[in-house]
Amino acid sequence: MTIPAFDLLRPRTVAEASRMLLDHGEEARPIAGGTTLVILMKQRALRFSHLVDLQSIPGLDRITETDGGLSIGALATHRSVERSPVVLRRAPALAHAFSCVGNVRIRETASVGGNLAHADYRLDPPPVLLALDAEVVLAGAGGTRVVALEDFYRGMYETALEPGELLLEVRVPRAPAASRTVYSRFSSLSANDWPCIGAAVCLSLEGERMGELRIGLSGVAEAPLLAAGLGRFRQERCSEELWDAVCAAIDEQISPVSDLRGSADYKREMTRVLVKRTLQGQARPAPSP
Ligand SMILES: Cc1cc2nc3c(=O)[nH]c(=O)nc-3n(C[C@H](O)[C@H](O)[C@H](O)COP(=O)(O)OP(=O)(O)OC[C@H]3O[C@@H](n4cnc5c(N)ncnc54)[C@H](O)[C@@H]3O)c2cc1C
Repeated sequence: MTIPAFDLLRPRTVAEASRMLLDHGEEARPIAGGTTLVILMKQRALRFSHLVDLQSIPGLDRITETDGGLSIGALATHRSVERSPVVLRRAPALAHAFSCVGNVRIRETASVGGNLAHADYRLDPPPVLLALDAEVVLAGAGGTRVVALEDFYRGMYETALEPGELLLEVRVPRAPAASRTVYSRFSSLSANDWPCIGAAVCLSLEGERMGELRIGLSGVAEAPLLAAGLGRFRQERCSEELWDAVCAAIDEQISPVSDLRGSADYKREMTRVLVKRTLQGQARPAPSP
């Protein structure tokens, strides 16, 4: 399969990249790892006369620890996140989610910014980032702004990115005290296929009672989703009834679409199963090392 001809523009700074994107308007698109964009262009699903190569801008691939949290540059590859000692220490569920993507060849090339900006509804990393209350740093001609990841997604393949704007960094704050985050995915085709459903649960327990609870989901709506209103379960005693009530609250918020990985009804039922099992596993004491 060939790719239609295009000009590859190689900016040295974010400001230059942004200007190039604005100059060429709808005819231009940023390219990072190219794992999605190149396929879509080869399939003639998308056509651009200019691609702005973000890999020519130095310094956008750093992963650093920040006051108990993380800063992940948009050009960091999936593989570098998966293997980063800082990520493994601060947010092991995030390393796990990135390790679930496709195969090693994809993960060696695909970037964090490309994953989030693509805004597919079935991605692995966004549920964990949503559960961990992550923010994204966006930069363009109008300056730099920080957007909560839950506000970044606007719909199917739609984000808060304005024309000429780039995603520069993902900021993951320090996790809530005594919390544990777990990412579970369910694939209905093969084990290394895209997830049918992804669920990340960030939960802290206060004795036998619920402390903080945040649940990020993918595959269950037009875009990755942070479950709303779970604060009302705080201080309730952990029990099967409580997990059922949490699942019922989530059921009201999701709107799965039927696709080759399952019908909307099947996905709704599997969301309940996956979330409940993850909560049950989370409420058990962690196995001793
Ligand atoms: C075979 C295969 C299997 C896969 N399996 C999975 C899976 O199991 N789970 C999963 O989550 N994903 C999966 N993916 C998707 C994969 O995660 C994405 O292809 C990858 O994350 C895209 O990153 P990239 O750097 O290659 O982006 P690109 O292809 O370069 O770009 C993707 C989109 O993001 C835009 N973009 C890129 N970087 C930026 C930026 N910094 N700012 C603004 N816009 C930007 C581009 O303009 C383009 O629209 C799979 C992909 C393939 C090809």
